[in-house]
Amino acid sequence: MILYGFLFFTLFSFIFLNEARLEFKEVASEMLKEVYENKPQEEFILETYKEIGIQTKIKDLTNGKEEFSNVEKDISDHKILSFNMFFEYIDGKAVLYFGETRYVTFKESEYEIYLQYDLSGDYAQLNRLLWKILILYIVVMLLVIRYGKKENEKLFKPIEDMTKTANQLTVNNLSCERLNVEGTKNELKNLATVINNMLDRIETSYESQKQFVSDASHELRTPIAVIQGYANLLHRWGSKDEEVLQESIDAISNEAKSMQDLVEKLLFLSRHDKKTLKLDKKRFQMDVVVADLVKETKLVVKNRNIHNTIMEPVMVYGDPQALKQAIRVFLDNAVKYTKDGDDITISCENKDGDCIITVADTGIGMTKKDMDHIFQRFYRSETVRNKNISGHGLGLSIAKLIILGHTGRIKIRSQYTKGSSFIITIPDRIWYKVNMD
Ligand code: ADP
Repeated sequence: MILYGFLFFTLFSFIFLNEARLEFKEVASEMLKEVYENKPQEEFILETYKEIGIQTKIKDLTNGKEEFSNVEKDISDHKILSFNMFFEYIDGKAVLYFGETRYVTFKESEYEIYLQYDLSGDYAQLNRLLWKILILYIVVMLLVIRYGKKENEKLFKPIEDMTKTANQLTVNNLSCERLNVEGTKNELKNLATVINNMLDRIETSYESQKQFVSDASHELRTPIAVIQGYANLLHRWGSKDEEVLQESIDAISNEAKSMQDLVEKLLFLSRHDKKTLKLDKKRFQMDVVVADLVKETKLVVKNRNIHNTIMEPVMVYGDPQALKQAIRVFLDNAVKYTKDGDDITISCENKDGDCIITVADTGIGMTKKDMDHIFQRFYRSETVRNKNISGHGLGLSIAKLIILGHTGRIKIRSQYTKGSSFIITIPDRIWYKVNMD
């Protein structure tokens, strides 16, 4: 502030004095016009100029004679910053002169007219003005310091509060701590709202991670408990009792298989979440993959009527293994959620290059609520939980990720107790292989 003050005063003084000098120059020019018309008159110049503070020295250049002069203090050789200028304190009074030389031709004679402006009066006036401004400046500065501090405190208070809240944020209080947006100015309010929205997203993601870990642990706990139970049984009776031995081996083997299946699914989802899941895409005939899958299922599942109705040749650009894994989920579910003798129909159609696979069954069907949730991780309908049908509620989440990875869509049609259809569309993608050789 002091530096700004100093700069302001310097600039102000310069402008003020220069204005006064220019004013003198203008008056002098006006008067010199008269000199053009008459020969420079000693009295006229001496008296008129002197009255308004201009001292004059006139030299006839044709004979080099000085005609007359009333210059009290000749400063014609004083140069300050290329100005012909003089400044000094004489008897405690500031004396300031500016000088300049003009040339005038009258009849055959040429005159050198040296004009010296006395700016001492203007300087004194400037001094008085500067004092007044300085006092005003100090008063304003004091007021700014006094009230500015209060304003600053008011302005920075919300930032301080935000910093304090942000410092206190941990995963444990993520759900209750948010930045206070009340009373903050617009820009700060926007920033706080953006940060709060970001915290909401982090909280949702953290909660879903927590839920995932808890669900996964829960799913793993059941087979572990079963294995432990049978191990205890074996320990007590197994070695002697043939029946117990066989039952335990079967149960342990089943649970181990279920655990392996679950761990593989968890690994798949974790690879997807870590973005390390890679799809090895190429152009291949999808109907062949679907037909293979139907053949494999028919070999294992004998007590369902499995038909493959339409099987049109259709090329897709994708990862054959991953797509087979996805379609297997729908087919396995159709088997799981139907009873003996029910129908399962699979078709693979070519609709203008798009591949449309339909897996339909006449099984237990789904309610509207189930249809809204079946792609959520670990979701299983009430009905299948009550019926004790095995599963972890991860198959459809995985299938959905794979289909989305091929920019595909899944449509469901289902009627509770009547059956369900899953319609999977994998859009045609023109794929050009660039030969780099
Ligand atoms: P899982 O079959 O292991 O439970 P999924 O993710 O494959 O897991 O399926 C989630 C839920 O969707 C199932 O538990 C079931 O409630 C419902 N579901 C899936 N497919 C069918 C189907 N074809 N018929 C009826 N319900 C189904």
